[in-house]
Amino acid sequence: VTIAVTRERRDGETRTALTPDMVRKLTGMGVTVVVETGTGLGSSIPDTAYAEAGATVARDLKTALTGADILMKVRGPTASEISALRPGTVVVALLDAWRDKDTVQALSGAGVTSFAMEFVPRISRAQVMDALSSQANLAGYRAVIEAAAAYGRGFPMMMTAAGTVAAAKVFIMGAGVAGLQAIATARRLGAVVTATDVRPAAKEQVESLGAKFVAVEDEEFKAAETAGGYAKAMSDEYQAKQAALTASHIVKQDVVITTALIPGRPAPRLVTAAHVSSMKPGSVIVDLAVDNGGNVEGIKAGELATTANGVTLVGWTNMPGRIASDASSLYARNLVAFVALMLKDGILAVDLDDEILKAAAVTHGGAIVHEGVKG
Ligand code: NAD
Repeated sequence: VTIAVTRERRDGETRTALTPDMVRKLTGMGVTVVVETGTGLGSSIPDTAYAEAGATVARDLKTALTGADILMKVRGPTASEISALRPGTVVVALLDAWRDKDTVQALSGAGVTSFAMEFVPRISRAQVMDALSSQANLAGYRAVIEAAAAYGRGFPMMMTAAGTVAAAKVFIMGAGVAGLQAIATARRLGAVVTATDVRPAAKEQVESLGAKFVAVEDEEFKAAETAGGYAKAMSDEYQAKQAALTASHIVKQDVVITTALIPGRPAPRLVTAAHVSSMKPGSVIVDLAVDNGGNVEGIKAGELATTANGVTLVGWTNMPGRIASDASSLYARNLVAFVALMLKDGILAVDLDDEILKAAAVTHGGAIVHEGVKG
């Protein structure tokens, strides 16, 4: 089996799908690994490190893909990559298959068997392949670092001879994987942290990290979690109550970090322009949901801006890409664990009846096979 890894070609993506560590692991499994030149540069991995680990470094895309049975990527392959694939090649990536219909169509048209890492089910056998979690965790950490850098004051309380610096008040909206890591990171920096979520299970997790839980805890809240542990879209009535609570809480905050997502839907709007303009000059808002439409009114994807009342809005897309070395390293582990499901004694054997492969399969044999994406 030959596995190829090519340079990421989308929107300045800095991560890579493979690290030298994982090259060693794959070659140990009898796999031949080909890496396109420059693949690891955004994550500080030179070609020589891949070569030393046992990979062949190919001089360009075409050479890298000739003879590839599996293509591993961070983001979905581009048209130039898809056109260089033989029918039957396996592609594994964070395809963004709910939204990127063009890429899904192209993969299907090329007869490629593609898997979306974002569809790996959250069952215990698949925990090691859970790329959403590995990346969200780092995104939550990095969001706090970005907020601290944009904030013109300190996070911890500091008592000095020249006077006291007050602790920053940080409010985390959405306490899933990213939000919980944001809480932990802000606490380590010494901030006073509050957090909210619509899932009742989040309350205990927030409190166990030493933050205070703030939410509208009505009957709807008590039933707001799906069997899969995800949030439901909330009613207009709940959202109005939530907005009122947010309004009274947010005026007292120095930093707000939003992370709220609902699978397969646009991100819920949690912070309105009125909330933003109620905040003190110098406050900072970081919106981690900006890739999915955003939780905060007025934050623009990819931009850092300051409002008329002096609030800094941080809209960086691809937050994991700002901590690329670690993000690549964890993602590569997720991917290799996933790909290992298809390797039997060094031979490629794709069993689409396997629970994990079935859930993640998007295209196969010239058709779209994922029910959600098809519909
Ligand atoms: P996510 O990225 O889908 O969403 C982030 C958070 O936003 C969630 O906690 C969600 O409840 C919250 N949210 C949605 N709408 C909101 C609103 N209107 N106001 C406030 N918050 C809102 O979530 P995630 O980080 O992927 O985690 C989702 C669940 O999956 C959690 O229960 C988590 O513990 C669980 N999980 C399980 C596993 C596993 O078992 N292998 C792995 C990772 C996560």
